[in-house]
Amino acid sequence: MLDLTYDAPKPKVIAGAKHDWELVIGLEVHAQVATKAKLFSGASTQFGAEPNSNVAFVDAGMPGMLPVINEGCVAQAVKTGLGLKAQINLYSAFDRKNYFYPDLPQGYQISQLYHPIVGEGEVLVEMGPGPHDGTARVVRIERIHLEQDAGKSIHDMDPNMSFVDLNRTGVALMEIVSRPDIRGPEEAAAYVSKLRQIMRYLGTCDGNMQNGNLRADVNVSICRPGAYEKYQETQDFSHLGTRCEIKNMNSLRFIQAAIEYEARRQIAIVEDGGEVVQETRLYDPDKNETRSMRSKEEAHDYRYFPDPDLLPLEIEQAWVDDIAASLPELPDEKKARFIKDFGLSDYDASVLTADTDNASFFEAVAEGRDGKLAANWVINELFGRLKKDDREITDSPVTPDQLGGVIALISKGDISGKIAKDLFEIVYTEGGDPAVIVEERGMKQVTDMGAIEAAVDEIIAANPDQVAKAKENPKLAGWFVGQVMKATGGKANPKAVNELIAKKLAG
Ligand code: ADP
Ligand code: MG
Repeated sequence: MLDLTYDAPKPKVIAGAKHDWELVIGLEVHAQVATKAKLFSGASTQFGAEPNSNVAFVDAGMPGMLPVINEGCVAQAVKTGLGLKAQINLYSAFDRKNYFYPDLPQGYQISQLYHPIVGEGEVLVEMGPGPHDGTARVVRIERIHLEQDAGKSIHDMDPNMSFVDLNRTGVALMEIVSRPDIRGPEEAAAYVSKLRQIMRYLGTCDGNMQNGNLRADVNVSICRPGAYEKYQETQDFSHLGTRCEIKNMNSLRFIQAAIEYEARRQIAIVEDGGEVVQETRLYDPDKNETRSMRSKEEAHDYRYFPDPDLLPLEIEQAWVDDIAASLPELPDEKKARFIKDFGLSDYDASVLTADTDNASFFEAVAEGRDGKLAANWVINELFGRLKKDDREITDSPVTPDQLGGVIALISKGDISGKIAKDLFEIVYTEGGDPAVIVEERGMKQVTDMGAIEAAVDEIIAANPDQVAKAKENPKLAGWFVGQVMKATGGKANPKAVNELIAKKLAG
């Protein structure tokens, strides 16, 4: 179990016409394995290639062709399992799931029904507006199995014909099945995004939802408050409502909208005295509704059986241990370390560990410097500036060394926060060593008390009326501070100026 210091988020409650209702959600996420070749052939997995150019004979279902397992895909599935703190099964096996579809030339999909490669695991899902509101839920993983993807039918290129592109046929997918532990639309989206984050850290799936490399079947049911807790106590599904499955969602926004719609649809049925029918539905984003695709009665009989072309997959513990030893630091650990070592807030640590590029950039900036100050500069100044230019952190014109240089100058008291912003902009647009720029352009903060005192005296002498007022009302001292800062081009040390003015006005 993870070391949980968070409270569980409250489940989403929807008020029906008669009662309050809660949601129960379980996801089957399909993640394309990041590898060069397909699961059982040497054909390339490259996205966007010329249609039907990445197809081996075995992918096209040619007679007599035999599948050969790609060890790289197995390693990636094991790595993903380890990243989800899951049981790795040293024995697993492939089964045929039989159905006919034009983009499935074999007439069956090779999958793992009875003996998946990965067993039970868990994911910590943090909640909130922004990255985190201080609550989190552990979502249990039931299993991960390896399977083949299907090809793509194209119906909108010709009025009289359909086309088929087999480039995706046989590409390796990991199907990650959760327990029905998710309690609302936002949580479902946060769960998918956490899986994506972990797999990106691991390098096992690029998580690109637009290209269909990460998609989810979303199972939704409704129950009365209290029923879910009974299910959790007993693991008895009869406490839960009948679920519907919304197929093939590839957008976090649509996942949330579809769950919300589906829950309200089920509530209306049940409150009307009807019963929810278990079925597969499709979400239509244009109409924001789900529609029935097939009911349980029409469900396929897939006639699963062990694939006779493939031996059971037996892997060795030593091999699993090697993979475990090569795991990178994962998001939860990295975040905890940032909070501890750099004194960051939960929020800042979440933002900075969202991906490894952000995290490494920040670490390079913060190394040996004030961590909180570094976090502020990376998040507020650098991210803000990059966003304005629509640039990625990997494409930042300011290097960690340069930003670290700016921060070091602030910490030493060489420049004020205001001058630092000007300096940052110069480094961002012109490049250069911040320390040298400060020297050459005379941007150094004036800490010479004599010079500051002279400026203060001058302003006080020139404004006797203001002095009189400020003696009555000490709040007016701020005006003098502003004047002195102006007179020194913003370079006077603000703390010194404040103290000096307070002293002079009191005197
Ligand atoms: P099947 O064998 O029909 O595919 P599973 O037991 O594998 O069904 O469940 C598929 C998915 O549905 C899992 O992610 C699971 O968490 C989810 N699920 C099961 N029961 C419910 C329910 N009552 N409400 C919501 N989701 C559910
Ligand atoms: Mg299932």
